[in-house]
Amino acid sequence: MAAEQIVPGLYMFSTRAVNMFLIESPAGCTLIDTGLPGSAPNLLQELAAIGKQSRDIHHIILTHAHPDHIGSFAALKRETNARAYMHRLDTGIATAGRGFRPMTPAPGLRRRILFRLFVHLDTSVEGEMIDQSLEDGDRLDFADDLQVIHTPGHCAGQVCLLWRKNGGVLLAADACSNMGGLGWSLGYEDVEEGKRSLKKLSSLNFQSACFGHGKPIRELASVQFAKKWG
Ligand SMILES: [Zn+2]
Ligand SMILES: [Zn+2]
Repeated sequence: MAAEQIVPGLYMFSTRAVNMFLIESPAGCTLIDTGLPGSAPNLLQELAAIGKQSRDIHHIILTHAHPDHIGSFAALKRETNARAYMHRLDTGIATAGRGFRPMTPAPGLRRRILFRLFVHLDTSVEGEMIDQSLEDGDRLDFADDLQVIHTPGHCAGQVCLLWRKNGGVLLAADACSNMGGLGWSLGYEDVEEGKRSLKKLSSLNFQSACFGHGKPIRELASVQFAKKWG
């Protein structure tokens, strides 16, 4: 699927039902998440279609250590030589490429069925070193002051990213999803903690929201979050 511009300077790429993002900034481009194993060639092709080469990617942020987000990390780090960032609670898993923590399905029959079909954590991917750990509240200069928000629940090291440009864009990763409507992710390590994280996100202001899975919300996104989880 071709790259989709969400707002000026932010693009979304989708490969095998997983979304990845690119932020353009004067300090070089930042790639957010890397897809399932084997996604690198497709992603590099999509980047080329918007005029970006692998050498333009200076930073890679991993939102959390699940195989569908770190699966092509090692391949893309090799290809781009980018500096890699992730919350400290998940860096060990990304480095080893194994040891994924178990999850339980989110509430609702539909999610339980999809969880059984699509969530496979008893697996391994190619591991690679993380260069720098992220913490809640970090502001990343290299991506236009992108703010790190620690949102455990789906995964202990899950981070969301708030980009203040263009009315505010929340990159919610897998804290929640927007597949057939804004709602839970398919599974959580700790569903109660996941609820607290969603409440925390609901207190923020952002015009648009993007997800690891599902379509972006382009208008009044934080109003929808507040209605659901505030
Ligand atoms: Zn996940
Ligand atoms: Zn995911």
